[in-house]
Amino acid sequence: NKTSVALLYGGRSGEHEVSLRSAASVYKHIDREKYYIHLIGISRQGTWYLQNAPSTADEVLSIEEDAQMMISVVPGQGLSSHTGPISVDVVLPILHGTFGEDGTLQGLLEIAGLPYVGADVGASYLSMDKDITKIIWMHHNLPVVPFRSIRKNQTEAVGFTWNALLEDLKKEFSLPLFIKPSQCGSSVGVSRVEKDEAFQAAMEKALKYDRKVLIEPAVNAREVECSVVGNDTPRAFPPGELEPSHEFYDYDAKYVDPDGASLVIPAVLSETEALEVRTIAEKAYAVLGCSGMARVDFFMDRNNGNLYLNEINTIPGFTSISMFPLMCESGGLAYTELLDELISLALSKYKSRS
Ligand code: ADP
Ligand code: MG
Ligand code: MG
Repeated sequence: NKTSVALLYGGRSGEHEVSLRSAASVYKHIDREKYYIHLIGISRQGTWYLQNAPSTADEVLSIEEDAQMMISVVPGQGLSSHTGPISVDVVLPILHGTFGEDGTLQGLLEIAGLPYVGADVGASYLSMDKDITKIIWMHHNLPVVPFRSIRKNQTEAVGFTWNALLEDLKKEFSLPLFIKPSQCGSSVGVSRVEKDEAFQAAMEKALKYDRKVLIEPAVNAREVECSVVGNDTPRAFPPGELEPSHEFYDYDAKYVDPDGASLVIPAVLSETEALEVRTIAEKAYAVLGCSGMARVDFFMDRNNGNLYLNEINTIPGFTSISMFPLMCESGGLAYTELLDELISLALSKYKSRS
Protein backbone atom coordinates (compact mmCIF):
# COMPACT_ATOMS: atom_id res chain seq x y z
CA ASN A 1 0.00 0.00 0.00
CA LYS A 2 2.88 2.34 -0.71
CA THR A 3 2.11 5.34 -2.91
CA SER A 4 3.58 4.67 -6.31
CA VAL A 5 5.65 7.54 -7.74
CA ALA A 6 7.03 7.84 -11.27
CA LEU A 7 10.18 9.94 -11.09
CA LEU A 8 10.87 11.43 -14.52
CA TYR A 9 14.30 12.79 -15.38
CA GLY A 10 16.65 13.61 -18.25
CA GLY A 11 14.69 14.93 -21.17
CA ARG A 12 15.08 16.79 -24.43
CA SER A 13 16.23 20.13 -23.09
CA GLY A 14 19.56 21.91 -22.77
CA GLU A 15 19.24 21.15 -19.07
CA HIS A 16 19.31 17.33 -19.45
CA GLU A 17 22.50 17.02 -17.38
CA VAL A 18 21.19 19.19 -14.58
CA SER A 19 18.11 16.99 -14.38
CA LEU A 20 20.26 13.87 -13.91
CA ARG A 21 21.78 15.48 -10.81
CA SER A 22 18.53 16.85 -9.45
CA ALA A 23 16.84 13.46 -9.82
CA ALA A 24 19.71 11.62 -8.11
CA SER A 25 19.26 13.89 -5.15
CA VAL A 26 15.47 13.43 -5.10
CA TYR A 27 15.96 9.65 -5.26
CA LYS A 28 18.38 9.84 -2.34
CA HIS A 29 16.02 11.88 -0.16
CA ILE A 30 12.59 10.45 -0.91
CA ASP A 31 11.10 8.26 1.82
CA ARG A 32 11.23 4.75 0.40
CA GLU A 33 9.12 3.43 3.30
CA LYS A 34 6.22 5.51 2.00
CA TYR A 35 6.77 5.51 -1.73
CA TYR A 36 7.49 2.93 -4.35
CA ILE A 37 9.63 4.62 -7.00
CA HIS A 38 9.49 3.90 -10.73
CA LEU A 39 12.52 5.58 -12.22
CA ILE A 40 11.88 6.74 -15.75
CA GLY A 41 14.78 8.17 -17.71
CA ILE A 42 13.96 10.27 -20.76
CA SER A 43 16.67 10.17 -23.42
CA ARG A 44 17.90 13.25 -25.25
CA GLN A 45 15.76 12.07 -28.17
CA GLY A 46 12.73 12.05 -25.91
CA THR A 47 12.10 8.31 -25.49
CA TRP A 48 11.06 7.09 -22.04
CA TYR A 49 12.83 4.07 -20.48
CA LEU A 50 12.17 2.33 -17.20
CA GLN A 51 15.42 2.16 -15.22
CA ASN A 52 16.81 -0.24 -12.68
CA ALA A 53 17.27 1.06 -9.15
CA PRO A 54 20.57 2.92 -8.89
CA SER A 55 22.72 3.16 -5.79
CA THR A 56 21.60 5.99 -3.52
CA ALA A 57 25.21 7.09 -3.41
CA ASP A 58 25.08 8.12 -7.07
CA GLU A 59 25.37 11.87 -7.57
CA VAL A 60 24.09 11.60 -11.12
CA LEU A 61 21.48 9.21 -12.51
CA SER A 62 22.16 7.61 -15.85
CA ILE A 63 19.76 6.55 -18.57
CA GLU A 64 20.03 3.11 -20.10
CA GLU A 65 18.30 3.07 -23.47
CA ASP A 66 17.11 -0.52 -23.47
CA ALA A 67 14.34 -1.05 -26.05
CA GLN A 68 12.79 -3.75 -23.81
CA MET A 69 12.24 -1.13 -21.14
CA MET A 70 10.51 1.48 -23.26
CA ILE A 71 7.55 3.20 -21.61
CA SER A 72 4.51 4.55 -23.36
CA VAL A 73 1.98 7.10 -22.24
CA VAL A 74 -1.56 5.96 -22.97
CA PRO A 75 -4.42 8.50 -23.12
CA GLY A 76 -6.66 7.96 -20.11
CA GLN A 77 -4.63 4.94 -19.00
CA GLY A 78 -1.41 6.26 -17.52
CA LEU A 79 1.88 4.54 -18.27
CA SER A 80 2.63 1.14 -19.66
CA SER A 81 5.64 -1.00 -20.51
CA HIS A 82 5.79 -3.96 -22.92
CA THR A 83 4.58 -6.20 -20.09
CA GLY A 84 1.49 -4.08 -19.44
CA PRO A 85 0.26 -1.11 -17.42
CA ILE A 86 2.44 0.34 -14.67
CA SER A 87 0.65 1.39 -11.54
CA VAL A 88 1.39 5.06 -10.87
CA ASP A 89 -0.34 7.23 -8.26
CA VAL A 90 1.58 10.39 -8.98
CA VAL A 91 4.26 11.63 -11.37
CA LEU A 92 7.22 13.59 -10.06
CA PRO A 93 8.77 15.38 -13.04
CA ILE A 94 12.29 16.52 -12.25
CA LEU A 95 12.88 17.92 -15.72
CA HIS A 96 14.07 21.41 -16.44
CA GLY A 97 13.33 23.58 -19.44
CA THR A 98 11.75 22.60 -22.75
CA PHE A 99 9.45 19.55 -22.76
CA GLY A 100 9.59 19.33 -18.97
CA GLU A 101 8.93 22.66 -17.36
CA ASP A 102 7.09 24.47 -20.15
CA GLY A 103 3.64 22.86 -20.00
CA THR A 104 4.06 20.32 -22.79
CA LEU A 105 4.79 17.41 -20.45
CA GLN A 106 2.02 18.57 -18.13
CA GLY A 107 -0.41 18.40 -21.07
CA LEU A 108 0.68 14.86 -21.82
CA LEU A 109 0.15 13.84 -18.19
CA GLU A 110 -3.31 15.45 -18.16
CA ILE A 111 -4.27 13.45 -21.24
CA ALA A 112 -2.90 10.30 -19.63
CA GLY A 113 -5.01 11.01 -16.52
CA LEU A 114 -2.04 11.12 -14.15
CA PRO A 115 -1.65 13.47 -11.18
CA TYR A 116 1.72 15.26 -11.19
CA VAL A 117 3.81 17.46 -8.93
CA GLY A 118 4.14 21.14 -9.77
CA ALA A 119 2.47 23.75 -11.94
CA ASP A 120 -0.24 22.78 -14.42
CA VAL A 121 -0.16 23.31 -18.19
CA GLY A 122 -1.06 27.00 -18.21
CA ALA A 123 1.04 28.13 -15.27
CA SER A 124 4.03 26.17 -16.55
CA TYR A 125 3.85 27.87 -19.93
CA LEU A 126 3.30 31.35 -18.51
CA SER A 127 6.24 30.88 -16.16
CA MET A 128 8.56 29.52 -18.85
CA ASP A 129 8.19 32.49 -21.16
CA LYS A 130 9.96 35.40 -19.47
CA ASP A 131 8.28 37.95 -21.75
CA ILE A 132 4.77 36.75 -20.84
CA THR A 133 5.66 36.25 -17.16
CA LYS A 134 6.81 39.84 -16.89
CA ILE A 135 3.76 41.21 -18.71
CA ILE A 136 1.51 39.44 -16.20
CA TRP A 137 3.55 40.66 -13.24
CA MET A 138 3.46 44.25 -14.56
CA HIS A 139 -0.29 43.99 -14.99
CA HIS A 140 -0.52 43.17 -11.28
CA ASN A 141 1.77 46.07 -10.35
CA LEU A 142 4.59 43.80 -9.30
CA PRO A 143 8.08 45.26 -9.82
CA VAL A 144 10.13 44.04 -12.81
CA VAL A 145 13.22 45.34 -14.62
CA PRO A 146 12.08 47.22 -17.75
CA PHE A 147 12.57 45.22 -20.94
CA ARG A 148 11.89 44.94 -24.62
CA SER A 149 11.17 41.76 -26.48
CA ILE A 150 12.14 41.18 -30.08
CA ARG A 151 10.83 38.38 -32.26
CA LYS A 152 13.07 36.71 -34.81
CA ASN A 153 10.83 37.68 -37.73
CA GLN A 154 11.28 41.37 -36.81
CA THR A 155 15.00 40.98 -37.40
CA GLU A 156 14.29 39.42 -40.80
CA ALA A 157 12.08 42.23 -42.05
CA VAL A 158 13.09 44.33 -45.05
CA GLY A 159 15.17 47.31 -43.99
CA PHE A 160 16.01 45.92 -40.54
CA THR A 161 19.48 46.74 -39.25
CA TRP A 162 21.04 45.80 -35.92
CA ASN A 163 22.36 49.31 -35.64
CA ALA A 164 18.95 50.91 -35.92
CA LEU A 165 17.56 48.49 -33.31
CA LEU A 166 20.39 49.28 -30.93
CA GLU A 167 19.99 53.04 -31.43
CA ASP A 168 16.28 52.67 -30.74
CA LEU A 169 16.95 50.66 -27.56
CA LYS A 170 19.43 53.24 -26.36
CA LYS A 171 16.63 55.82 -26.21
CA GLU A 172 15.22 53.74 -23.36
CA PHE A 173 18.14 51.88 -21.82
CA SER A 174 21.81 52.55 -21.38
CA LEU A 175 24.53 49.93 -21.72
CA PRO A 176 25.41 47.42 -20.34
CA LEU A 177 22.45 45.33 -21.48
CA PHE A 178 21.38 41.79 -20.74
CA ILE A 179 20.16 39.76 -23.69
CA LYS A 180 18.40 36.44 -23.16
CA PRO A 181 16.13 33.93 -24.87
CA SER A 182 12.59 34.35 -23.61
CA GLN A 183 12.13 30.63 -22.93
CA CYS A 184 15.27 29.06 -21.56
CA GLY A 185 17.03 28.42 -18.29
CA SER A 186 20.39 27.77 -16.68
CA SER A 187 21.63 31.00 -18.30
CA VAL A 188 21.79 29.25 -21.68
CA GLY A 189 22.03 31.90 -24.41
CA VAL A 190 22.31 34.78 -21.91
CA SER A 191 24.86 37.55 -22.57
CA ARG A 192 25.91 40.77 -20.94
CA VAL A 193 26.62 43.42 -23.56
CA GLU A 194 29.03 46.17 -22.62
CA LYS A 195 29.77 47.63 -26.03
CA ASP A 196 27.77 48.38 -29.18
CA GLU A 197 30.00 45.98 -31.15
CA ALA A 198 28.88 43.01 -29.05
CA PHE A 199 25.15 43.61 -29.49
CA GLN A 200 24.49 41.76 -32.74
CA ALA A 201 26.41 38.61 -31.73
CA ALA A 202 24.56 38.49 -28.40
CA MET A 203 21.20 38.83 -30.13
CA GLU A 204 22.07 36.14 -32.67
CA LYS A 205 23.20 33.83 -29.90
CA ALA A 206 19.96 34.26 -27.96
CA LEU A 207 17.92 33.82 -31.16
CA LYS A 208 19.51 30.39 -31.62
CA TYR A 209 17.63 29.22 -28.54
CA ASP A 210 14.32 30.97 -28.97
CA ARG A 211 12.36 32.93 -31.55
CA LYS A 212 11.82 35.66 -28.99
CA VAL A 213 14.54 37.49 -27.10
CA LEU A 214 14.48 39.83 -24.12
CA ILE A 215 16.66 42.90 -23.80
CA GLU A 216 17.06 44.59 -20.41
CA PRO A 217 19.39 47.10 -18.82
CA ALA A 218 21.91 45.41 -16.54
CA VAL A 219 21.03 45.95 -12.92
CA ASN A 220 23.87 46.14 -10.43
CA ALA A 221 22.08 43.86 -8.06
CA ARG A 222 22.18 41.25 -5.37
CA GLU A 223 20.50 38.03 -6.52
CA VAL A 224 17.89 37.02 -4.00
CA GLU A 225 15.72 33.91 -4.40
CA CYS A 226 12.69 32.60 -2.58
CA SER A 227 11.14 29.12 -2.43
CA VAL A 228 7.36 28.98 -2.59
CA VAL A 229 5.31 25.84 -1.87
CA GLY A 230 1.53 25.35 -1.98
CA ASN A 231 -1.60 25.33 -4.08
CA ASP A 232 -4.28 27.88 -3.23
CA THR A 233 -2.45 29.23 -0.17
CA PRO A 234 1.19 29.42 -1.25
CA ARG A 235 3.80 29.77 1.45
CA ALA A 236 7.12 31.56 0.86
CA PHE A 237 10.22 30.48 2.76
CA PRO A 238 12.99 32.74 4.05
CA PRO A 239 14.93 34.09 1.03
CA GLY A 240 18.45 33.11 0.12
CA GLU A 241 21.14 34.92 -1.85
CA LEU A 242 23.54 33.86 -4.55
CA GLU A 243 26.88 35.53 -4.90
CA PRO A 244 28.34 34.61 -8.29
CA SER A 245 32.11 34.91 -8.56
CA HIS A 246 31.76 35.37 -12.33
CA GLU A 247 30.67 38.54 -14.12
CA PHE A 248 27.12 37.23 -13.81
CA TYR A 249 25.48 33.97 -12.82
CA ASP A 250 26.25 32.20 -16.09
CA TYR A 251 26.06 28.51 -16.99
CA ASP A 252 29.61 27.78 -15.81
CA ALA A 253 29.05 29.55 -12.50
CA LYS A 254 25.94 27.40 -12.05
CA TYR A 255 27.27 23.98 -13.03
CA VAL A 256 30.88 23.87 -14.15
CA ASP A 257 32.96 25.93 -11.75
CA PRO A 258 32.57 24.54 -8.21
CA ASP A 259 33.46 28.01 -6.89
CA GLY A 260 31.16 29.75 -9.39
CA ALA A 261 28.83 31.05 -6.71
CA SER A 262 28.37 31.01 -2.99
CA LEU A 263 24.98 30.45 -1.43
CA VAL A 264 23.93 32.52 1.56
CA ILE A 265 20.91 30.95 3.25
CA PRO A 266 19.09 32.72 4.72
CA ALA A 267 20.06 35.91 2.88
CA VAL A 268 21.35 38.75 5.01
CA LEU A 269 18.34 41.08 4.81
CA SER A 270 16.48 43.23 7.29
CA GLU A 271 13.25 41.80 8.64
CA THR A 272 11.28 44.26 6.49
CA GLU A 273 13.22 43.39 3.36
CA ALA A 274 12.82 39.63 3.91
CA LEU A 275 9.11 40.07 4.48
CA GLU A 276 8.79 42.16 1.31
CA VAL A 277 10.56 39.45 -0.71
CA ARG A 278 8.28 36.76 0.68
CA THR A 279 5.11 38.77 0.12
CA ILE A 280 6.02 39.62 -3.47
CA ALA A 281 7.09 36.02 -4.13
CA GLU A 282 3.71 34.68 -3.00
CA LYS A 283 1.86 37.19 -5.19
CA ALA A 284 4.12 36.54 -8.18
CA TYR A 285 3.36 32.81 -7.79
CA ALA A 286 -0.36 33.29 -7.33
CA VAL A 287 -0.96 35.62 -10.29
CA LEU A 288 0.63 33.07 -12.64
CA GLY A 289 -1.64 30.37 -11.23
CA CYS A 290 1.25 28.24 -9.98
CA SER A 291 0.74 25.20 -7.80
CA GLY A 292 2.98 22.75 -6.01
CA MET A 293 6.21 24.71 -5.99
CA ALA A 294 8.35 27.35 -7.63
CA ARG A 295 11.50 29.31 -7.01
CA VAL A 296 10.97 33.04 -7.46
CA ASP A 297 14.13 34.98 -8.34
CA PHE A 298 14.73 38.65 -7.59
CA PHE A 299 17.25 41.38 -8.16
CA MET A 300 17.91 43.77 -5.32
CA ASP A 301 19.48 46.97 -6.66
CA ARG A 302 22.75 47.67 -4.83
CA ASN A 303 22.36 51.40 -5.42
CA ASN A 304 18.92 52.02 -3.93
CA GLY A 305 17.74 48.71 -2.45
CA ASN A 306 14.87 48.45 -4.95
CA LEU A 307 13.51 44.98 -5.42
CA TYR A 308 12.65 43.56 -8.87
CA LEU A 309 11.23 40.21 -9.83
CA ASN A 310 13.49 38.56 -12.40
CA GLU A 311 11.99 35.18 -13.19
CA ILE A 312 10.19 32.16 -11.80
CA ASN A 313 11.20 28.52 -12.15
CA THR A 314 8.41 25.98 -11.73
CA ILE A 315 10.80 23.00 -11.59
CA PRO A 316 13.82 24.49 -9.83
CA GLY A 317 17.14 22.70 -9.31
CA PHE A 318 16.84 19.88 -6.80
CA THR A 319 20.45 18.85 -6.19
CA SER A 320 21.56 18.68 -2.58
CA ILE A 321 23.34 22.01 -3.10
CA SER A 322 20.47 23.68 -4.96
CA MET A 323 18.86 26.81 -3.59
CA PHE A 324 15.27 25.55 -3.66
CA PRO A 325 15.52 22.60 -1.20
CA LEU A 326 18.10 24.44 0.92
CA MET A 327 15.84 27.48 1.36
CA CYS A 328 12.92 25.21 2.30
CA GLU A 329 15.16 23.44 4.76
CA SER A 330 16.31 26.69 6.36
CA GLY A 331 12.63 27.57 6.79
CA GLY A 332 11.98 24.30 8.62
CA LEU A 333 10.93 21.96 5.81
CA ALA A 334 13.63 19.31 5.33
CA TYR A 335 14.19 17.75 1.90
CA THR A 336 12.36 14.48 2.66
CA GLU A 337 9.33 16.29 4.12
CA LEU A 338 9.38 18.75 1.23
CA LEU A 339 8.92 15.81 -1.17
CA ASP A 340 6.08 14.48 1.01
CA GLU A 341 4.37 17.84 0.88
CA LEU A 342 4.79 18.21 -2.89
CA ILE A 343 3.31 14.75 -3.47
CA SER A 344 0.34 15.39 -1.21
CA LEU A 345 -0.25 18.78 -2.86
CA ALA A 346 -0.32 17.03 -6.25
CA LEU A 347 -2.76 14.39 -5.03
CA SER A 348 -5.08 16.81 -3.29
CA LYS A 349 -5.21 19.09 -6.33
CA TYR A 350 -6.04 16.16 -8.58
CA LYS A 351 -8.76 14.95 -6.22
CA SER A 352 -10.33 18.38 -5.91
CA ARG A 353 -10.65 18.58 -9.67
CA SER A 354 -12.14 15.18 -10.41
P1 ADP B 1 17.82 31.87 -16.56
O1 ADP B 1 16.40 31.40 -16.62
O2 ADP B 1 18.63 31.32 -17.68
O3 ADP B 1 18.43 31.65 -15.21
P2 ADP B 1 17.98 34.73 -15.89
O4 ADP B 1 17.06 35.82 -16.33
O5 ADP B 1 17.89 34.35 -14.47
O6 ADP B 1 17.77 33.46 -16.84
O7 ADP B 1 19.45 35.20 -16.23
C1 ADP B 1 20.58 34.45 -15.81
C2 ADP B 1 21.53 35.32 -15.02
O8 ADP B 1 21.95 36.45 -15.80
C3 ADP B 1 20.93 35.94 -13.75
O9 ADP B 1 20.99 35.04 -12.66
C4 ADP B 1 21.85 37.15 -13.56
O10 ADP B 1 23.12 36.78 -13.03
C5 ADP B 1 22.08 37.61 -14.98
N1 ADP B 1 21.08 38.63 -15.40
C6 ADP B 1 19.99 38.42 -16.18
N2 ADP B 1 19.32 39.57 -16.40
C7 ADP B 1 19.98 40.54 -15.74
C8 ADP B 1 19.80 41.97 -15.59
N3 ADP B 1 18.81 42.62 -16.18
N4 ADP B 1 20.71 42.63 -14.82
C9 ADP B 1 21.73 41.99 -14.23
N5 ADP B 1 21.95 40.66 -14.34
C10 ADP B 1 21.11 39.94 -15.10
MG1 MG C 1 15.30 30.32 -15.13
MG1 MG D 1 17.82 32.53 -13.45
